[in-house]
Amino acid sequence: MFTASERANAPLFMKPLTLLPVPAFNDNYLWVLHDGQSALVVDPGDAAPVAEALNANGLQLETILVTHHHGDHTGGVSALQAAFGSKVYAPANDPMPFVKKTPFTAVDEGSHFSALGCRWQVMAVPGHTLGHIAYFVELSNDDPILFCGDTLFSGGCGRLFEGTPAQMHQSLTRFAALPGQTRVCCAHEYTLSNLKFARAVEPENEDLMRYSVWCEERRAALEPTLPSRVEIERQINPFLRVTQSAVVAAAQSKSPASPPDPVSVLGVLREWKNNS
Ligand code: ZN
Ligand code: FE
Repeated sequence: MFTASERANAPLFMKPLTLLPVPAFNDNYLWVLHDGQSALVVDPGDAAPVAEALNANGLQLETILVTHHHGDHTGGVSALQAAFGSKVYAPANDPMPFVKKTPFTAVDEGSHFSALGCRWQVMAVPGHTLGHIAYFVELSNDDPILFCGDTLFSGGCGRLFEGTPAQMHQSLTRFAALPGQTRVCCAHEYTLSNLKFARAVEPENEDLMRYSVWCEERRAALEPTLPSRVEIERQINPFLRVTQSAVVAAAQSKSPASPPDPVSVLGVLREWKNNS
């Protein structure tokens, strides 16, 4: 996050940025952020829908951000980079499938760079993959934005393909500590399925019930449920609520032999969700 002196030095006038979730595959969103001229895309698993969105809005693709190595997040990087000459940022510790074809800047925890006139911050968030990173930006004229890839979903979290419950717990704890108004741009529309699971964990959570109704209405109208907000996820996402007594009790009833500490509770929830 910015220090007070960095915030004081931030440009006073910047163009408003527009966020577009570009649907791809079954349930991916390839997020485009733009200022009306220049654009940035996150995790372009497929080049075609991104190119279409850029052309429809008359945008130049300045920057490509990648969160992790999976094909549904990387498949369109080379084609887009070749077409637009974009600058590519990708994780230093995740094996990038385009490594031989496409030049990129490797970034990791603590890396900073400038794109669309903003200062971007990289967070290492292992769990779904070992080298998974997230991108966070504070804006002078709008709420902050988090591109969290497959680490955090609305109402859920990514599968632990490579990392441990302890790593995922730490990654999610860091997201939960970001400013509440932060717009959470997840890479998949998994919300309704996650909320069904969340209601099984916390049937008494009234915020969760209200949010579920809103999300059902959005999906019925074919609208995205995303971006979410950090403050919403703190209220409704069981994977961010592993110290809440109701969540601990639910995990204990599912797996009585497992201890009640936050990492163990997260591990039980993840297994439970995998099998639900
Ligand atoms: Zn993934
Ligand atoms: Fe994915």
